[in-house]
Amino acid sequence: MKTCAIVGINWGDEGKGRMVDLIANDYDIVVRYQGGGNAGHTVSNDMGEFALHLLPSGIFRKEVVNILGNGVALDPDNLWTEIEDVRSKGVKITPDNLKISDRASLLMPWHRDLDALEEQRLADRKYGSTKQGIAPFYSDKYQKKTVMAGELFHPEKLREHLKGLLEWKNLILTGVYGAPACSEEQIEEWIKTSCENIKPFICDTGAILKKAQDEGKRILFEAQLGSLRDLDYGIYPYTTSSNTTAAFAPIGSGLPSLKLEGVIGVVKAYSTCVGEGPFVSEMFGDEASRLREEGAEYGARTGRPRRVGALDLVATKYGVEVQAATALAVTKMDILSYMDRIPVCTHYRLNGEIIDRFPFPMDLDDAEPVIEYVDGWKCDISGVRRWEDLPLAARSYIELIEKAAECPVRYVSVGAERDSIIIR
Ligand code: GDP
Repeated sequence: MKTCAIVGINWGDEGKGRMVDLIANDYDIVVRYQGGGNAGHTVSNDMGEFALHLLPSGIFRKEVVNILGNGVALDPDNLWTEIEDVRSKGVKITPDNLKISDRASLLMPWHRDLDALEEQRLADRKYGSTKQGIAPFYSDKYQKKTVMAGELFHPEKLREHLKGLLEWKNLILTGVYGAPACSEEQIEEWIKTSCENIKPFICDTGAILKKAQDEGKRILFEAQLGSLRDLDYGIYPYTTSSNTTAAFAPIGSGLPSLKLEGVIGVVKAYSTCVGEGPFVSEMFGDEASRLREEGAEYGARTGRPRRVGALDLVATKYGVEVQAATALAVTKMDILSYMDRIPVCTHYRLNGEIIDRFPFPMDLDDAEPVIEYVDGWKCDISGVRRWEDLPLAARSYIELIEKAAECPVRYVSVGAERDSIIIR
């Protein structure tokens, strides 16, 4: 496949970074096309263990060019911290292997402030923001009130642009939230320091991608979060503020004319969900604690314990549909090895009806899981590398997912390390 997107089928944290790291070697370019530093991809390879937030997971492959597309929330402070951190572990990051779109908008210091102020105002009605400024950032982008990275090369015009933005933003900071105003000097200082760091990486990445496409180069698109967090198709309002679906990859990367050849949807062998919102197949009590510990389910950005639950076939089927996935990768199969019998949510019960179609977000509050139990395999599968060597119960589990999702499972991941994978 010359062009392929790796996307999350569920709530995120499925192991997309792990899959990108695995197959990035087959690609010339890896592009992140949406989201910001609000979630994390954990990658474990021969260079160490890394929690990536904004950097594309192709950064560890020597020949790969990594791009942050126009659709990302470009937080210069977080990105620079991440670059320095990853570099300190021996990974080379230069303007040759990392390129930032001049059309990506900058996440400004006030976006993070506004995020925190709004969560504070909402108190116990909050939506579980990671307070990285993502929602204020994207709402400003839609209002055409952000600064594009390329503006850093036009200092005079930028100063005028910022003056206008600041006047408007201070009305909100002071008038709506009673918070201190942001001064011109503060922002100028931020431009001089934080933005200066990332300036050498900024260029016309649309032109680079177009040329690569014309030359028949292979391009991999990396998403953040999963189908159920998509702004339009997810569990609104408990979604993120961008489109996590593969259909957005061409728009958010800088190649709007692209038709993706493949979409690899990453599904975790059980469910996890960070923060607030409906989660129909959620487990509680000792059962949940054990699964959380076995799977080390704690947020890469926040350290928050993730809510855990049974594999949700209703949500998975929907996730596959909205992603138009052409193949699936099932991750963390090794984690289920301790279970005698494995719970699977096959349907929802809603208003007395048994359904297999993912319902309208508000109906999720009333949906109950229909749980069936399947046999566990009760042995260590982390060393298995061939499909035939997987225990029958594990193969049946994969086939159950395939059947419900109507999509072939091409990869079965049995460990966090790069080579802990079964390719069918
Ligand atoms: P992403 O945001 O989708 O990339 O996922 P995260 O990085 O937030 O979470 C996935 C976590 O699971 C990471 O810590 C990975 O190292 C780990 N992981 C991925 N695949 C496997 C697997 O098959 N088995 C185990 N045990 N861990 C895995």
